[in-house]
Amino acid sequence: MRNMVIIGSGPAGLTAAIYAARANLAPLLIEGKEPGGQLTLTTLVENYPGFSEGIMGPQLMEDMRSQAKRFGTEIVNAYVHAVKLTEKPFRVYYADQEIEAKTVVISTGSSAKLIGIASEIKLMGHGVSTCATCDGFFFRGKEIAVVGGGDSAMEEATFLTKFATKVSLIHRRETLRASKIMQDRALENPKIKFIWNTIVEEVEGTKGTGVTGLKLRNLKTQEMSQIKLDGLFVAIGHNPNTEILKGQITLDDRGYIITQPNSTRTNIPGVFACGDVQDPVFRQAVTAAGTGCMAAIEAERWLEH
Ligand code: NAP
Repeated sequence: MRNMVIIGSGPAGLTAAIYAARANLAPLLIEGKEPGGQLTLTTLVENYPGFSEGIMGPQLMEDMRSQAKRFGTEIVNAYVHAVKLTEKPFRVYYADQEIEAKTVVISTGSSAKLIGIASEIKLMGHGVSTCATCDGFFFRGKEIAVVGGGDSAMEEATFLTKFATKVSLIHRRETLRASKIMQDRALENPKIKFIWNTIVEEVEGTKGTGVTGLKLRNLKTQEMSQIKLDGLFVAIGHNPNTEILKGQITLDDRGYIITQPNSTRTNIPGVFACGDVQDPVFRQAVTAAGTGCMAAIEAERWLEH
């Protein structure tokens, strides 16, 4: 029987582990399919406080992991394939193991949707990004593209015009899904050029050169074209990683865990959620770490009472 099982190893899960371990709860943290989470997909992180020169995403996560271990977190490199939260003690299943837990912290994060082409994955962190807030700064004075037609794409394209000289917004249809106000803002921005009815077929470049251009296909005419630019932002949405929780915990209509206001409490007493799995709005490492801290403190108090 564990005091606390933490599912997921991004900034939220590892911060929960640091706080819980320092409170002598001896937490067990199960890393998941992508140890370290989304930050391991990026290169330089410049907006995490405390690193005035920036830090590489994978290094930051490795350091958080060491910090969690130093205080006694047990970390298992495995994937949780099922949970049972409908009765106490809670049960968490990974590999062929069944673990009983008094509290469960869910920090399984979300995954950015990707276009699904090999060159996009190859150049992720080398000119391809899924986070304008994180990586926009690296494209000062450069030309870039954003893919998507929803609010995220409009918001990211508009934000990126602060840095880039030109932003091509590539959308697969000729009408936008985004809300009217976000559309108007993007359509009125002279730095944003819309490319309609078009998909990205290939991202050109190498890890050495970074992104150098895109091969595009017009879905109406099937015509192929090529543009030269320095970066690609994929903004086609995120999926919270909540498949194993469906039917057991209250999720919103997009699948994010609903937590109580100013809290990481879920609808199940003893189960806490932190980081992107409960946050479709901010999605930052620092906010994830903040809610990880909250989850550990709330779980500790819940155990005490
Ligand atoms: P979204 O609304 O689901 O839009 C995704 C966009 O990406 C759609 O235009 C879609 O095209 C396109 N797309 C999806 N898969 C694609 C693919 N494989 N290749 C090319 N294009 C693809 O996602 P979102 O923009 O991330 O927004 C999610 C939610 O968050 C929404 O409810 C949104 O209102 C909200 N949000 C709000 C704000 C804000 O208010 N500040 C900011 C960001 C997000 P189709 O249109 O053809 O389907």
